[in-house]
Amino acid sequence: MSELKQCPCGKVPTDVGFTLTQGTKWMDVYPDCCGEWTIETRTHYERDEMALKKLAADAWNSAPRGWEPTDALGEEDNATGE
Ligand SMILES: [Zn+2]
Repeated sequence: MSELKQCPCGKVPTDVGFTLTQGTKWMDVYPDCCGEWTIETRTHYERDEMALKKLAADAWNSAPRGWEPTDALGEEDNATGE
């Protein structure tokens, strides 16, 4: 399996899981490192489990890495409030 990129939690997941939502059109993708981060991606109506897993891994790796916990955003607000 191809390597997965680092999670915003700081760890590098070794695997991703997925859950189909809204029928079969979308899926939630979640890494195995923590329960905090999930992304949503299209399934392209794929039915094959291995193909879905690859789509999940691709979506994880191509997701923007600008995610910040809401706490960090709050600090920025404080910095501009002098
Ligand atoms: Zn994580």
